Amino acid sequence: MKTRRIFLQKAGLSALALNLTPFNPIAAMTKEIFSEKQDEQPLRVAIMGLGSYGTRVARAMKDCKRAKLVGVISGTPSKIEAWQKEYAIPAKNCYNYETYHQIKDNPDIDAVYVITPNGLHMEHTLGVAKSGKHVICEKPMAVNSNEGKIMVDACNAAGVKLLIGYRMHFEAKTQEVVKMRMNGDFGKILFFQGLSGFIIGDPSQWRLNYELSGGGAMMDIGIYSINGARYMIGEEPIWVTAQETKNNPEKFKEGIDETIQFQLGFPGGAVASCLSTYSMNNLDKFFVNGLKGFAEMQPSTGYGPIEGKTHKGPLTNPHVTHQTTQMDEMAAIILDGKKPLVPVDGEEGLKDMVIIDAIYEAVKTGKKVNLV
Ligand code: NAD
Repeated sequence: MKTRRIFLQKAGLSALALNLTPFNPIAAMTKEIFSEKQDEQPLRVAIMGLGSYGTRVARAMKDCKRAKLVGVISGTPSKIEAWQKEYAIPAKNCYNYETYHQIKDNPDIDAVYVITPNGLHMEHTLGVAKSGKHVICEKPMAVNSNEGKIMVDACNAAGVKLLIGYRMHFEAKTQEVVKMRMNGDFGKILFFQGLSGFIIGDPSQWRLNYELSGGGAMMDIGIYSINGARYMIGEEPIWVTAQETKNNPEKFKEGIDETIQFQLGFPGGAVASCLSTYSMNNLDKFFVNGLKGFAEMQPSTGYGPIEGKTHKGPLTNPHVTHQTTQMDEMAAIILDGKKPLVPVDGEEGLKDMVIIDAIYEAVKTGKKVNLV
Protein backbone atom coordinates (compact mmCIF):
# COMPACT_ATOMS: atom_id res chain seq x y z
CA MET A 1 0.00 0.00 0.00
CA LYS A 2 2.84 2.33 0.88
CA THR A 3 4.41 1.69 -2.53
CA ARG A 4 1.12 2.43 -4.26
CA ARG A 5 0.74 5.66 -2.35
CA ILE A 6 4.28 6.77 -3.17
CA PHE A 7 3.83 6.01 -6.86
CA LEU A 8 0.52 7.84 -7.03
CA GLN A 9 1.97 10.83 -5.19
CA LYS A 10 4.95 10.91 -7.55
CA ALA A 11 2.73 10.62 -10.59
CA GLY A 12 0.52 13.42 -9.26
CA LEU A 13 -2.50 11.15 -9.52
CA SER A 14 -5.09 9.91 -7.12
CA ALA A 15 -6.51 6.40 -7.23
CA LEU A 16 -10.00 7.75 -7.68
CA ALA A 17 -8.96 9.94 -10.59
CA LEU A 18 -7.62 6.97 -12.54
CA ASN A 19 -9.85 5.18 -14.96
CA LEU A 20 -8.56 1.63 -14.54
CA THR A 21 -9.81 0.11 -17.80
CA PRO A 22 -7.69 -2.19 -19.97
CA PHE A 23 -7.60 0.42 -22.73
CA ASN A 24 -6.22 3.25 -20.60
CA PRO A 25 -2.43 3.34 -21.16
CA ILE A 26 -1.77 5.20 -17.89
CA ALA A 27 -3.87 2.70 -16.01
CA ALA A 28 -2.10 -0.21 -17.68
CA MET A 29 1.31 1.22 -16.83
CA THR A 30 0.19 1.96 -13.28
CA LYS A 31 -1.08 -1.58 -12.82
CA GLU A 32 2.17 -3.03 -14.09
CA ILE A 33 4.23 -0.93 -11.70
CA PHE A 34 1.87 -1.76 -8.85
CA SER A 35 2.17 -5.51 -9.32
CA GLU A 36 5.95 -5.38 -9.75
CA LYS A 37 6.31 -3.33 -6.58
CA GLN A 38 3.87 -5.53 -4.68
CA ASP A 39 5.93 -8.61 -5.51
CA GLU A 40 8.94 -6.92 -3.98
CA GLN A 41 7.19 -6.06 -0.71
CA PRO A 42 8.08 -8.71 1.89
CA LEU A 43 5.91 -9.79 4.77
CA ARG A 44 7.32 -7.71 7.62
CA VAL A 45 7.34 -9.89 10.73
CA ALA A 46 7.92 -9.25 14.43
CA ILE A 47 8.82 -12.25 16.57
CA MET A 48 7.27 -12.47 20.04
CA GLY A 49 9.27 -14.71 22.39
CA LEU A 50 13.01 -14.71 21.70
CA GLY A 51 13.68 -18.20 23.08
CA SER A 52 15.26 -21.20 21.44
CA TYR A 53 12.71 -21.69 18.66
CA GLY A 54 12.28 -17.96 18.06
CA THR A 55 16.05 -17.78 17.54
CA ARG A 56 15.93 -20.67 15.05
CA VAL A 57 13.14 -18.98 13.08
CA ALA A 58 14.97 -15.64 13.04
CA ARG A 59 18.18 -17.24 11.70
CA ALA A 60 16.24 -19.14 9.03
CA MET A 61 14.51 -15.92 7.97
CA LYS A 62 17.87 -14.46 6.94
CA ASP A 63 17.53 -16.57 3.76
CA CYS A 64 13.89 -15.71 3.11
CA LYS A 65 12.88 -14.03 -0.13
CA ARG A 66 9.39 -12.88 0.84
CA ALA A 67 9.46 -12.61 4.64
CA LYS A 68 11.63 -10.25 6.67
CA LEU A 69 12.26 -9.99 10.39
CA VAL A 70 11.66 -6.34 11.27
CA GLY A 71 10.57 -6.33 14.92
CA VAL A 72 10.73 -8.06 18.29
CA ILE A 73 8.57 -8.45 21.39
CA SER A 74 10.42 -9.60 24.48
CA GLY A 75 10.47 -9.12 28.24
CA THR A 76 14.28 -9.21 28.31
CA PRO A 77 15.99 -5.91 27.31
CA SER A 78 19.38 -7.60 26.79
CA LYS A 79 17.87 -9.98 24.23
CA ILE A 80 16.22 -7.08 22.41
CA GLU A 81 19.57 -5.31 22.24
CA ALA A 82 21.34 -8.38 20.85
CA TRP A 83 18.63 -9.01 18.26
CA GLN A 84 18.63 -5.34 17.21
CA LYS A 85 22.33 -5.68 16.44
CA GLU A 86 22.11 -9.05 14.70
CA TYR A 87 19.05 -8.25 12.56
CA ALA A 88 19.30 -4.45 12.19
CA ILE A 89 15.99 -3.94 13.97
CA PRO A 90 15.13 -0.27 14.61
CA ALA A 91 14.21 0.77 18.16
CA LYS A 92 10.74 1.84 17.02
CA ASN A 93 9.97 -1.84 16.19
CA CYS A 94 10.92 -3.18 19.64
CA TYR A 95 8.27 -3.90 22.26
CA ASN A 96 7.83 -5.72 25.54
CA TYR A 97 4.77 -7.61 26.83
CA GLU A 98 3.33 -4.43 28.35
CA THR A 99 3.76 -2.25 25.27
CA TYR A 100 3.18 -4.59 22.34
CA HIS A 101 -0.43 -3.47 21.87
CA GLN A 102 1.04 -0.22 20.52
CA ILE A 103 2.08 -2.22 17.47
CA LYS A 104 -1.30 -1.23 16.06
CA ASP A 105 0.15 2.22 15.38
CA ASN A 106 3.21 0.80 13.61
CA PRO A 107 2.68 0.68 9.83
CA ASP A 108 6.01 -1.11 9.30
CA ILE A 109 4.93 -4.42 10.84
CA ASP A 110 2.45 -6.71 9.04
CA ALA A 111 2.45 -9.82 11.24
CA VAL A 112 3.56 -11.12 14.62
CA TYR A 113 4.94 -14.64 15.05
CA VAL A 114 3.95 -15.84 18.56
CA ILE A 115 6.69 -18.20 19.81
CA THR A 116 5.97 -18.16 23.54
CA PRO A 117 4.99 -21.10 25.81
CA ASN A 118 1.73 -22.84 24.78
CA GLY A 119 -0.26 -21.54 27.74
CA LEU A 120 0.29 -17.95 26.55
CA HIS A 121 -0.62 -18.48 22.87
CA MET A 122 -4.27 -17.49 23.27
CA GLU A 123 -3.59 -14.32 25.26
CA HIS A 124 -0.85 -13.27 22.85
CA THR A 125 -2.83 -14.12 19.72
CA LEU A 126 -5.84 -12.15 20.93
CA GLY A 127 -3.58 -9.19 21.76
CA VAL A 128 -1.95 -9.21 18.33
CA ALA A 129 -5.28 -9.64 16.51
CA LYS A 130 -6.72 -6.71 18.46
CA SER A 131 -3.80 -4.64 17.20
CA GLY A 132 -4.86 -5.42 13.63
CA LYS A 133 -1.79 -7.49 12.71
CA HIS A 134 -1.78 -10.97 11.16
CA VAL A 135 -0.84 -13.76 13.56
CA ILE A 136 1.46 -16.71 13.03
CA CYS A 137 1.25 -18.83 16.17
CA GLU A 138 3.39 -21.78 17.15
CA LYS A 139 2.02 -25.26 17.67
CA PRO A 140 0.09 -26.34 19.65
CA MET A 141 -2.06 -23.30 18.81
CA ALA A 142 -3.47 -23.35 22.37
CA VAL A 143 -3.89 -25.68 25.32
CA ASN A 144 -7.37 -26.93 24.38
CA SER A 145 -9.98 -26.60 21.65
CA ASN A 146 -12.03 -23.98 23.54
CA GLU A 147 -9.06 -21.62 23.44
CA GLY A 148 -8.36 -22.52 19.82
CA LYS A 149 -11.93 -21.66 18.82
CA ILE A 150 -11.73 -18.32 20.64
CA MET A 151 -8.52 -17.54 18.73
CA VAL A 152 -10.03 -18.43 15.33
CA ASP A 153 -13.12 -16.32 16.06
CA ALA A 154 -11.07 -13.35 17.32
CA CYS A 155 -8.84 -13.31 14.23
CA ASN A 156 -11.86 -13.58 11.93
CA ALA A 157 -13.58 -10.74 13.81
CA ALA A 158 -10.44 -8.59 13.58
CA GLY A 159 -10.05 -9.34 9.85
CA VAL A 160 -6.53 -10.73 10.29
CA LYS A 161 -5.12 -14.08 9.20
CA LEU A 162 -4.20 -16.74 11.75
CA LEU A 163 -1.60 -19.30 10.66
CA ILE A 164 -0.11 -22.07 12.79
CA GLY A 165 3.62 -22.89 12.63
CA TYR A 166 3.19 -26.28 10.92
CA ARG A 167 6.58 -26.21 9.18
CA MET A 168 6.26 -29.82 7.90
CA HIS A 169 3.41 -28.77 5.61
CA PHE A 170 5.99 -27.01 3.44
CA GLU A 171 8.76 -29.63 3.63
CA ALA A 172 9.57 -31.10 0.20
CA LYS A 173 9.70 -34.84 1.01
CA THR A 174 6.54 -34.58 3.11
CA GLN A 175 4.81 -32.77 0.27
CA GLU A 176 6.00 -35.46 -2.16
CA VAL A 177 4.31 -38.17 -0.08
CA VAL A 178 1.14 -36.09 0.33
CA LYS A 179 1.01 -35.58 -3.46
CA MET A 180 1.48 -39.33 -4.01
CA ARG A 181 -1.41 -39.98 -1.64
CA MET A 182 -3.54 -37.42 -3.48
CA ASN A 183 -2.66 -39.11 -6.82
CA GLY A 184 -3.80 -42.47 -5.44
CA ASP A 185 -0.29 -43.98 -5.61
CA PHE A 186 -0.76 -45.79 -2.30
CA GLY A 187 -4.23 -47.05 -3.14
CA LYS A 188 -6.68 -47.33 -0.26
CA ILE A 189 -4.82 -46.41 2.92
CA LEU A 190 -5.57 -48.64 5.89
CA PHE A 191 -2.74 -47.95 8.35
CA PHE A 192 -0.57 -45.13 9.67
CA GLN A 193 2.04 -45.33 12.39
CA GLY A 194 3.40 -42.18 14.05
CA LEU A 195 6.14 -42.23 16.68
CA SER A 196 7.07 -38.92 18.33
CA GLY A 197 9.34 -38.62 21.33
CA PHE A 198 12.50 -37.47 23.03
CA ILE A 199 13.92 -37.57 26.55
CA ILE A 200 13.16 -34.22 28.13
CA GLY A 201 15.80 -32.68 30.39
CA ASP A 202 15.56 -29.88 32.98
CA PRO A 203 12.54 -30.64 35.22
CA SER A 204 12.05 -26.93 35.95
CA GLN A 205 11.37 -25.91 32.34
CA TRP A 206 7.96 -24.55 31.24
CA ARG A 207 7.23 -27.69 29.19
CA LEU A 208 6.79 -29.55 32.51
CA ASN A 209 4.73 -26.77 34.11
CA TYR A 210 1.02 -27.39 33.41
CA GLU A 211 0.06 -23.69 33.58
CA LEU A 212 2.43 -22.86 30.74
CA SER A 213 2.38 -26.09 28.71
CA GLY A 214 -1.22 -27.29 29.02
CA GLY A 215 0.02 -30.89 29.04
CA GLY A 216 3.08 -33.03 28.46
CA ALA A 217 4.57 -34.83 25.49
CA MET A 218 1.22 -34.96 23.67
CA MET A 219 0.95 -31.16 23.43
CA ASP A 220 4.58 -30.72 22.50
CA ILE A 221 5.52 -33.60 20.24
CA GLY A 222 2.57 -36.00 20.00
CA ILE A 223 0.81 -33.32 17.97
CA TYR A 224 3.18 -34.16 15.08
CA SER A 225 1.82 -37.72 14.91
CA ILE A 226 -1.78 -36.46 15.10
CA ASN A 227 -1.20 -33.88 12.40
CA GLY A 228 0.83 -36.37 10.32
CA ALA A 229 -1.88 -39.03 10.54
CA ARG A 230 -4.34 -36.50 9.12
CA TYR A 231 -2.19 -35.30 6.21
CA MET A 232 -0.82 -38.74 5.39
CA ILE A 233 -4.25 -40.43 5.39
CA GLY A 234 -6.07 -37.38 4.03
CA GLU A 235 -9.14 -37.79 6.24
CA GLU A 236 -10.35 -36.54 9.62
CA PRO A 237 -10.53 -39.13 12.44
CA ILE A 238 -13.94 -40.19 13.76
CA TRP A 239 -12.85 -41.86 17.00
CA VAL A 240 -9.97 -41.95 19.46
CA THR A 241 -8.71 -44.43 22.05
CA ALA A 242 -5.67 -43.77 24.25
CA GLN A 243 -3.64 -45.24 27.11
CA GLU A 244 -1.11 -43.48 29.33
CA THR A 245 2.03 -44.91 30.92
CA LYS A 246 3.68 -42.88 33.67
CA ASN A 247 6.93 -44.30 35.05
CA ASN A 248 8.19 -41.09 36.63
CA PRO A 249 5.35 -39.28 38.46
CA GLU A 250 7.90 -37.14 40.29
CA LYS A 251 9.08 -35.51 37.07
CA PHE A 252 5.78 -35.76 35.17
CA LYS A 253 3.30 -34.30 37.62
CA GLU A 254 -0.51 -34.17 37.40
CA GLY A 255 -1.57 -32.95 33.95
CA ILE A 256 1.85 -33.59 32.37
CA ASP A 257 1.67 -36.76 30.29
CA GLU A 258 4.89 -38.74 30.00
CA THR A 259 3.93 -41.42 27.45
CA ILE A 260 0.61 -41.89 25.66
CA GLN A 261 -0.22 -44.52 23.06
CA PHE A 262 -3.22 -43.54 21.01
CA GLN A 263 -5.24 -44.85 18.14
CA LEU A 264 -7.32 -42.87 15.65
CA GLY A 265 -10.05 -44.37 13.48
CA PHE A 266 -10.80 -42.84 10.07
CA PRO A 267 -14.03 -42.94 8.05
CA GLY A 268 -12.43 -44.86 5.13
CA GLY A 269 -11.45 -47.70 7.48
CA ALA A 270 -7.85 -46.66 8.18
CA VAL A 271 -6.43 -46.82 11.70
CA ALA A 272 -3.53 -44.76 13.06
CA SER A 273 -1.45 -46.20 15.87
CA CYS A 274 0.78 -43.60 17.53
CA LEU A 275 3.09 -43.05 20.46
CA SER A 276 4.00 -39.78 22.11
CA THR A 277 6.65 -39.64 24.84
CA TYR A 278 9.04 -37.51 26.86
CA SER A 279 10.97 -40.60 28.02
CA MET A 280 12.51 -42.13 24.87
CA ASN A 281 14.83 -40.81 22.20
CA ASN A 282 14.98 -41.86 18.53
CA LEU A 283 11.23 -41.71 18.05
CA ASP A 284 10.54 -39.64 14.95
CA LYS A 285 8.92 -41.94 12.43
CA PHE A 286 5.93 -42.03 10.08
CA PHE A 287 4.77 -45.10 8.16
CA VAL A 288 1.74 -45.04 5.92
CA ASN A 289 0.48 -48.20 4.23
CA GLY A 290 -2.03 -48.51 1.41
CA LEU A 291 -3.19 -51.45 -0.68
CA LYS A 292 -0.92 -50.39 -3.57
CA GLY A 293 2.11 -48.98 -1.74
CA PHE A 294 3.70 -47.38 1.29
CA ALA A 295 5.81 -44.46 2.53
CA GLU A 296 8.23 -44.55 5.42
CA MET A 297 9.93 -41.48 6.88
CA GLN A 298 12.55 -41.44 9.61
CA PRO A 299 13.27 -38.79 10.73
CA SER A 300 9.85 -37.54 9.77
CA THR A 301 9.38 -34.23 11.63
CA GLY A 302 12.77 -33.17 13.04
CA TYR A 303 14.59 -30.15 11.66
CA GLY A 304 15.98 -32.34 8.92
CA PRO A 305 17.13 -33.48 6.58
CA ILE A 306 14.03 -35.68 6.52
CA GLU A 307 14.79 -39.16 5.20
CA GLY A 308 12.35 -41.51 3.62
CA LYS A 309 11.33 -43.95 0.93
CA THR A 310 8.20 -45.20 -0.72
CA HIS A 311 7.39 -48.41 -2.63
CA LYS A 312 8.76 -46.54 -5.67
CA GLY A 313 12.17 -45.79 -4.13
CA PRO A 314 13.96 -43.25 -1.95
CA LEU A 315 12.67 -39.71 -1.50
CA THR A 316 15.33 -37.45 -2.97
CA ASN A 317 13.92 -33.91 -2.72
CA PRO A 318 16.68 -31.58 -1.50
CA HIS A 319 16.69 -30.29 2.07
CA VAL A 320 15.96 -26.62 2.66
CA THR A 321 15.86 -25.16 6.18
CA HIS A 322 12.24 -25.76 7.12
CA GLN A 323 11.58 -22.38 8.69
CA THR A 324 12.96 -20.53 5.64
CA THR A 325 10.49 -22.24 3.32
CA GLN A 326 7.72 -21.94 5.89
CA MET A 327 8.10 -18.18 6.28
CA ASP A 328 8.34 -17.54 2.53
CA GLU A 329 5.25 -19.66 1.94
CA MET A 330 3.38 -18.02 4.80
CA ALA A 331 4.23 -14.63 3.30
CA ALA A 332 2.66 -15.80 0.03
CA ILE A 333 -0.43 -17.02 1.91
CA ILE A 334 -0.84 -13.71 3.73
CA LEU A 335 0.20 -11.32 0.94
CA ASP A 336 -1.11 -13.15 -2.13
CA GLY A 337 -3.82 -15.42 -0.73
CA LYS A 338 -1.84 -18.49 -1.89
CA LYS A 339 -3.50 -21.79 -0.95
CA PRO A 340 -1.02 -24.25 0.62
CA LEU A 341 -0.99 -27.96 -0.27
CA VAL A 342 -1.87 -28.80 3.34
CA PRO A 343 -3.66 -26.05 5.30
CA VAL A 344 -1.88 -24.13 8.06
CA ASP A 345 -4.72 -21.88 9.17
CA GLY A 346 -6.37 -21.59 12.57
CA GLU A 347 -9.04 -24.14 11.61
CA GLU A 348 -6.27 -26.66 10.88
CA GLY A 349 -4.74 -26.00 14.30
CA LEU A 350 -8.17 -26.32 15.91
CA LYS A 351 -8.69 -29.80 14.38
CA ASP A 352 -5.57 -31.01 16.20
CA MET A 353 -6.72 -29.41 19.46
CA VAL A 354 -10.09 -31.22 19.26
CA ILE A 355 -8.22 -34.52 18.84
CA ILE A 356 -5.85 -33.73 21.74
CA ASP A 357 -8.86 -32.98 23.98
CA ALA A 358 -10.35 -36.34 22.95
CA ILE A 359 -7.07 -38.19 23.62
CA TYR A 360 -6.89 -36.75 27.15
CA GLU A 361 -10.54 -37.68 27.69
CA ALA A 362 -9.90 -41.23 26.44
CA VAL A 363 -6.94 -41.56 28.81
CA LYS A 364 -9.04 -40.32 31.73
CA THR A 365 -12.13 -42.43 31.06
CA GLY A 366 -10.48 -45.46 29.48
CA LYS A 367 -13.21 -45.27 26.84
CA LYS A 368 -13.35 -44.77 23.10
CA VAL A 369 -14.21 -41.14 22.33
CA ASN A 370 -16.24 -40.44 19.20
CA LEU A 371 -15.34 -37.26 17.33
CA VAL A 372 -18.52 -37.02 15.23
P1 NAD B 1 11.73 -21.38 24.99
O1 NAD B 1 11.55 -21.57 26.46
O2 NAD B 1 13.09 -21.58 24.43
O3 NAD B 1 11.26 -19.90 24.59
C1 NAD B 1 10.06 -19.35 25.07
C2 NAD B 1 10.18 -17.85 25.06
O4 NAD B 1 8.99 -17.30 25.61
C3 NAD B 1 11.36 -17.34 25.92
O5 NAD B 1 12.06 -16.35 25.24
C4 NAD B 1 10.67 -16.74 27.15
O6 NAD B 1 11.40 -15.69 27.70
C5 NAD B 1 9.36 -16.28 26.55
N1 NAD B 1 8.31 -16.10 27.55
C6 NAD B 1 7.44 -15.07 27.56
N2 NAD B 1 6.64 -15.15 28.63
C7 NAD B 1 7.01 -16.23 29.33
C8 NAD B 1 6.57 -16.81 30.53
N3 NAD B 1 5.57 -16.29 31.25
N4 NAD B 1 7.18 -17.95 30.94
C9 NAD B 1 8.16 -18.51 30.23
N5 NAD B 1 8.65 -18.00 29.07
C10 NAD B 1 8.07 -16.86 28.63
O7 NAD B 1 10.65 -22.31 24.28
P2 NAD B 1 10.66 -22.72 22.75
O8 NAD B 1 11.26 -24.05 22.60
O9 NAD B 1 11.18 -21.61 21.93
O10 NAD B 1 9.09 -22.91 22.49
C11 NAD B 1 8.22 -21.82 22.27
C12 NAD B 1 7.03 -22.27 21.42
O11 NAD B 1 7.50 -22.75 20.18
C13 NAD B 1 6.23 -23.42 22.03
O12 NAD B 1 4.87 -23.23 21.78
C14 NAD B 1 6.72 -24.64 21.29
O13 NAD B 1 5.76 -25.67 21.19
C15 NAD B 1 7.03 -24.06 19.93
N6 NAD B 1 8.07 -24.81 19.21
C16 NAD B 1 7.83 -25.19 17.94
C17 NAD B 1 8.78 -25.89 17.24
C18 NAD B 1 8.53 -26.29 15.80
O14 NAD B 1 9.34 -27.02 15.25
N7 NAD B 1 7.49 -25.80 15.20
C19 NAD B 1 9.99 -26.22 17.85
C20 NAD B 1 10.22 -25.81 19.16
C21 NAD B 1 9.25 -25.08 19.83
